[in-house]
Amino acid sequence: MISTNSKDLLAMPISDFIISSEKVAHVQSGNNAEHALLVLTRTGYSSIPVLDMKYRLQGLLSMKMITESILGLEHIEYEKLPNIKVDTIMEKDIAVLKMTDTFQRALDLVINHAFLCVIDEDGTFAGILTRRVILKQLKKYIYQKEK
Ligand code: AMP
Repeated sequence: MISTNSKDLLAMPISDFIISSEKVAHVQSGNNAEHALLVLTRTGYSSIPVLDMKYRLQGLLSMKMITESILGLEHIEYEKLPNIKVDTIMEKDIAVLKMTDTFQRALDLVINHAFLCVIDEDGTFAGILTRRVILKQLKKYIYQKEK
């Protein structure tokens, strides 16, 4: 059964919990795969958002997508990296949150995603919400209830 308090948490807007866009590492859709590989390696993130010139969300790019794009029959074809554009290998069909979405919707989605991209009303990238942040909020809520 869901208590009144947990209903409060579930109904909270996600805007309080997001990591804002200026703190999020990203690549642009026109960048090449070599640049993207550098960004992913330097930041240590497994996957990062892809934005267009106007800061609108286009998709997600992971190390796996880059590796798969240069996988030859016998060896990895690193020399191809500068000629591959990010928007040809990124994942376009991604789960997205709106700034006005609730904690409950985020909770449902983070089960299958380590983080979710958040957009504002005109599709501009606003930031990300990570599974880590959602779990921290849940932990805080559970521990407060036990006191
Ligand atoms: P974390 O919760 O810190 O383990 O992050 C989970 C995933 O969210 C990372 O592997 C990245 O894909 C993404 N992520 C977290 N923080 C950032 C950030 N500042 N910039 C880009 N991606 C991030």
